[in-house]
Amino acid sequence: MVVVMKPGTDRPDIDRLVERFQSMGLEVGITTGVGCTILGLVGDTTAVDMDKISIHPHVERVMRVQEPYKKANRKFHPADTVVEVGAAKIGGGSFSVIAGPCSVESEAQIIEVARDVKQAGAALLRGGAFKPRTSPYSFQGMGLEGLDLLTEARAATGLPIVSEIMAPRYVDVFEEKVDVVQVGARNMQNFDLLKEVGRMSKPVLLKRGLSNSYEEWIMSAEYIMAGGNENVILCERGIRTFETYTRNTLDVSAIPAVKQMSHLPVVVDPSHSAGMYWMVEPLAMAAIAAGADGLLIEVHNDPPHAKCDGQQSLTPENFGHLMAKVGTLVDIMNKTLVK
Ligand code: PEP
Ligand code: MN
Repeated sequence: MVVVMKPGTDRPDIDRLVERFQSMGLEVGITTGVGCTILGLVGDTTAVDMDKISIHPHVERVMRVQEPYKKANRKFHPADTVVEVGAAKIGGGSFSVIAGPCSVESEAQIIEVARDVKQAGAALLRGGAFKPRTSPYSFQGMGLEGLDLLTEARAATGLPIVSEIMAPRYVDVFEEKVDVVQVGARNMQNFDLLKEVGRMSKPVLLKRGLSNSYEEWIMSAEYIMAGGNENVILCERGIRTFETYTRNTLDVSAIPAVKQMSHLPVVVDPSHSAGMYWMVEPLAMAAIAAGADGLLIEVHNDPPHAKCDGQQSLTPENFGHLMAKVGTLVDIMNKTLVK
């Protein structure tokens, strides 16, 4: 349920109403916009008498929210959420690029790629230490050692680091070492993991599952937010369709649709959508034109010899070309590229 307060209502009057809802066992989110305050009520609101609330002298309007997601709902929080990590800023007119190799392979590799992507304008370094691979015989990532190498790359470049968590048992080490926690497509509905990540203080990059609807995706964000962690970035990474030419199909519609449904920022990963390096740039451009708040791009210093996803990885040189175009289009979209 959403309660819109009349413009100019004093804080003590707002607080009195908030206490009344809290005494009914409801959690109340307060959003203060330009000239008006919105109360978002989360919990069992069936006992709330809408008529009584709507005639309250300081209440402008009361709405029941039909959608099952509350904290992630734009009705609860009309302004865009902006996630800030170090210098990076994602959402609300700010656009940042996350880049790096699919997996961390060695100290030399991750530091070289980190320097290159920083130089080209990336604001965050991403590298997988724990990799969700289809085959148990494929490279599974360097594990904890990979996380340590990422922290070295952060020290060398100043770039905040993003890495994927695959199991609840790693929550403490990710909390300590990583700046943004990625939940991968295959774990989007691993509800135990989402609950644990919801207790973390670090922002979460939540990828859309391979076959999940917008509502299911936002419900997974709601799991994280219900735990108290409201810094969630949604990542569209392509979905399964009947088309086999591309690895996945980038769902461009997800960008405007999900941004209408939710206030959370949406970034796009054209690398896993396409599965081919030469398609990354056109899909990245489409994503920016459709309103994305950022990009996630796989970059490798030696794609033919990458241990994972080399075919879709850009060379640092191609990433530099892409970033020049990103800068131009972000400008045209009236957003600010934050490096
Ligand atoms: C990745 O980011 O390297 C990855 C495994 O992505 P996804 O979860 O989208 O498949
Ligand atoms: Mn990958």
